[in-house]
Order: sequence, then C-alpha cells, then structure tokens
Amino acid sequence: MDGNDRGFDLDSLSLGSLGILSILTLIFFITHWDAYVIFEEAFAAALGGRFRALDILYSIVGFVVTGMTVWFSVLTLIGVALKDVRLALYGASLCVPSLFLIYVTDLVRVGALGGLTIFSLLLILVSIEQVLGGVAKGFVRANRLSVLTGDWRGVLRGLRLAVLGALMIVPGVYKYLYNLPGVTVEITDLYSSIRMLIMMVMPFLEAYLLIFLVTRLLTSIFFVKCKVCNSIMLKRSIPISGWDSEHTLRHLHCPRCGATIDL
Ligand SMILES: [Zn+2]
Repeated sequence: MDGNDRGFDLDSLSLGSLGILSILTLIFFITHWDAYVIFEEAFAAALGGRFRALDILYSIVGFVVTGMTVWFSVLTLIGVALKDVRLALYGASLCVPSLFLIYVTDLVRVGALGGLTIFSLLLILVSIEQVLGGVAKGFVRANRLSVLTGDWRGVLRGLRLAVLGALMIVPGVYKYLYNLPGVTVEITDLYSSIRMLIMMVMPFLEAYLLIFLVTRLLTSIFFVKCKVCNSIMLKRSIPISGWDSEHTLRHLHCPRCGATIDL
C-alpha cells in the first residue's frame, strides 16, 4: 500500500474481530452449558433427522450478533473520533449489516421468512459489507476518499453479490435453476446430506457464474486492471501516455503502483 496511509491496519482488525467472535461464542457456551445439545442435534439433522434445537440456535446467533454489533460500533466511533476515514468506513461496513442481521434474526425466529429469502437476504447483507469495505480498502488514500484513483475490486465484488441476492429473492428463479439438473436426493446418511447440500447451493453458483460473466464484459469496457498490484480502476480517470518514438504503443500508468498498463 502507499506509504502516506497512516492509521489502523484493517487486516489485523479483521483478525481481532475473529478473536472477539470466538470469545463471545465461548462465553455463550460457558454460561449456557445445556446448549451443547445443539451439536448432537446438528449431527442428527445431517443424518436425516429433525433439527430440534432451533431455540438454542437463535439464542447463540442473537447473542453473538449483538456482541459483534457493539464491537463494530466501537470501531466506527473510534474512526469518527480520530477522523480516520478508512477506519470509520470499515467499521460502518460491518456495523450496518450486523444491525440488519439482528432484525433478520428476529424475523426468522417468528417464522416470517422462508429459507430461500433468508439466504438471499444474508447475501445482500454480505454485499453491503463488501461494497462499504471495498470503499474503505480501495478508495481511501492519505485519509481522503478518492474515487478516481480508487481500486474498485471490492466494490465490484460486492455489487455482484448484491445482484445475486436480489435475483435469487425473485420467486421462481431458484426453482428454475434447481430443476435444471433434474436429480432429487433423499437424505438417508451423511453422504446423501452432503449431496443434498451441494444440490441446494448449485443454483446460486450457476447464477453467480452468469452474473460474473456479464459484469466481466461490462467492467472490461469501463475499467482497467493493473497486472502488478491487481487494482481495478476507472479507465477514463487515468491519462493515456504514449512512447515518444512509437505513437502506436499507447499505455497507462497505474496511479496506485506506477506500473505500465498496455492498452
Ligand atoms: Zn498497479
């Protein structure tokens, strides 16, 4: 990264968040020792049984998500207090979806949402995290937002996930893609439940592949990728240079690492 970027290392902050996540989970199981039954229930469900520990699952998710939201809010507030644009955006990228997740968990608990809707909503929440996090990581230089020299990689990935979530939430899309292979699996053992899981995820992979190919086509028109630092930048924001002696070899200089990008 650039030398004039001060402030927090976002990668170590992500590691710290993982640490807090495991501590919260640990605290939950220490204070709710009867919650261990959830592992037996999960194993039984994988073998085709009924998962009867939903209440415990909701309690764990509610406890952990609330704790993480507090932690992410603290990160955001520290960023705002220190006027650290990158940290504030990074905190918000985690805080906003986790706030929504508390709300979604409540809706799931009262049975207001179907499985597919839950999964699509989770995808949209992840996409919010990816877009805001992509802005924090790619667009902030020297504590200022700069769209022109920004790296769009994270933002584009987030947008693809958002499209995927929005597409799958449309009734019928998932069912159409699910019926394409024409195989039905009945859960009788661990192997068949893994096959079932793969079958259920397949429509998402198919749709994502399609979205990826379409966006790839669109991004190649408006964006240019630096092969050295892997940044994806707006084409029009970079001035085109030409070698003095050979006018035909037009090229760009990557505004992030200075490497030559051939056109
Ligand atoms: Zn570069």
